[in-house]
Amino acid sequence: MRSRYSAYALGLVNYLVHSTLPAQQASLDQQAILAWSLSSTWLGLEVNQTQLIKGEPQHAYVTFTARWRDENGEHSHRERSAFVRNNGNWYFIDPTVEIKLERNDPCPCNSGLKFKKCCAGYFP
Ligand SMILES: [Zn+2]
Repeated sequence: MRSRYSAYALGLVNYLVHSTLPAQQASLDQQAILAWSLSSTWLGLEVNQTQLIKGEPQHAYVTFTARWRDENGEHSHRERSAFVRNNGNWYFIDPTVEIKLERNDPCPCNSGLKFKKCCAGYFP
């Protein structure tokens, strides 16, 4: 989470893409991410809560508040984001990017579980 915030502050779109669930990466609007990143002055990140999920070591939630300023003034955004671990790396599950999967499909995080038994519950 902190590294993704830093990537926003530095305009490192490549990092933001590659730290998102691989099955969602191709659907990200990289131009929009870059434009938002560069047109904002990043004022700070506060990690409010980190929540591990009992019985699901591959999943975690991070609640954070990010603050930034743009031509419309200062903004504060609080969000509870889901992350999934695969091969030792944590990936952001982007709730705004739809993935077309059936509930019985293999989970896109490569856990070896069915989607419904793994990451499905972390999509809105
Ligand atoms: Zn999964």
